[in-house]
Amino acid sequence: MPSMGVRRVWRRESLIIVTWLAVSAVVGLLVGRVLLCVLLGVSAYLAMQLIYAYQLHRWLTSDRIEPSDGFGVWQEIYTELYRLKQRNRKRKKRLKSIVHEFQASTAALPDGAVVLDSQGRIVWFNQAAAALLALRTPQDLGQRIANLLRHPHFASYLADPGDGGELEMPSPLNEADTILLRRIPYGNNQRLLIARDISEQKRLEHTRRDFVANASHELRTPLTVLRGYLEMMEEETADGAALSSWRAPIREMGEQSRRMNRIIESLLKLARVEAEGLQQRQERVDVGAMVTSLVDDIRLAAGAGHTIVTDLEPGLSLYGRTSELESVFSNLLSNAVRYTPAEGHIHVRWWSDDEGAYFSVADDGPGIDAVHLPRLTERFYRVDAGRKASAGGTGLGLAIVKHCLEHHDADLRIDSRPGEGTVFTCHFPAQRRLSQRAA
Ligand code: ADP
Repeated sequence: MPSMGVRRVWRRESLIIVTWLAVSAVVGLLVGRVLLCVLLGVSAYLAMQLIYAYQLHRWLTSDRIEPSDGFGVWQEIYTELYRLKQRNRKRKKRLKSIVHEFQASTAALPDGAVVLDSQGRIVWFNQAAAALLALRTPQDLGQRIANLLRHPHFASYLADPGDGGELEMPSPLNEADTILLRRIPYGNNQRLLIARDISEQKRLEHTRRDFVANASHELRTPLTVLRGYLEMMEEETADGAALSSWRAPIREMGEQSRRMNRIIESLLKLARVEAEGLQQRQERVDVGAMVTSLVDDIRLAAGAGHTIVTDLEPGLSLYGRTSELESVFSNLLSNAVRYTPAEGHIHVRWWSDDEGAYFSVADDGPGIDAVHLPRLTERFYRVDAGRKASAGGTGLGLAIVKHCLEHHDADLRIDSRPGEGTVFTCHFPAQRRLSQRAA
């Protein structure tokens, strides 16, 4: 609905046209050429409209704010457009200052920030990103970032349509430094890449790992001496009345020294997995044969108490690191045996589907309360530190399992209910699965 103002203006314009035509007709009557004078009048009116339209077009495409003067309806059109132009200018100014403020605040961030368009080209980056990722202005603006950061996993990390996710990679400026990248998708397929220098954190982690490994290593020798003497004393006091009052304490000391030895061995194993696991050679691992031999060993060691059933897909192998995979399977198997009372049932499975390969150990032991499940793979985490069965463990078994699985891009699922038993399932991605024909 046109407003009162618009109606008034157009009424006036209609009046002008009618008056103009009437004046042309009167002049025509006076000179005896009515049609010609009316035609001339209409042409003059049209010419005036064209001139104003031309002026308006020029004004709209210029930077000039002040409009030209108009006549009739053009005056009103100019005024309205002038207001619109001014409003747009103010809005543009406000947006510009917001963008400036945003750029100034992100430029001050200690983390590197890179804005990427839908094609992975650099739109903008802050100073920290320039320093961390060796980016240069203006040469690198508009370049594909995957062409500038040549880490083997970077391109696939960037192309992954999933949300978030992190990538650790060596700094492009110094191989010894580590950069953590975080990809945040937004808007229309655009991405914000956040880069952080985590070299110091990595170095600290390294120092801690080295310290634990060195301390464990140093403790090994004195403990071996102690264990040797304790074993001798155990033998001496085993029979005969000599030193009989020391028999029980010496046996206890012997047991505790063996436990300390297991803890030290596990700590060393964990440190080895953490430090050099990824560098170890990968090969075809015949999981079926490996599990069969582990189960045979366990049957021999644990006696006939448990019923162990195996269900292994023939010819299904994995591409991985033999010693790490052996640690995973043996830890899960020995846990099932240790925590399931004698006469318990253990079901060991190895199978595959479209999603990958699976290894699972199910027992009908005491089960684990749901509150413990998220923390089970932490170092030294035990469900019940006082429970007799756990006395044999080191609390490091599942931490080793978790690390070894991470090195195989695999994950561990734990399904358990108190009183009903536990199922540990390792899921290996499909690209690690090898069928017999691939041998
Ligand atoms: P530990 O050397 O104490 O067995 P782990 O890291 O292997 O250490 O296991 C952590 C804890 O998880 C154990 O102390 C135990 O309480 C629990 N656990 C592991 N496996 C089982 C299982 N099959 N059934 C019940 N509890 C289990």
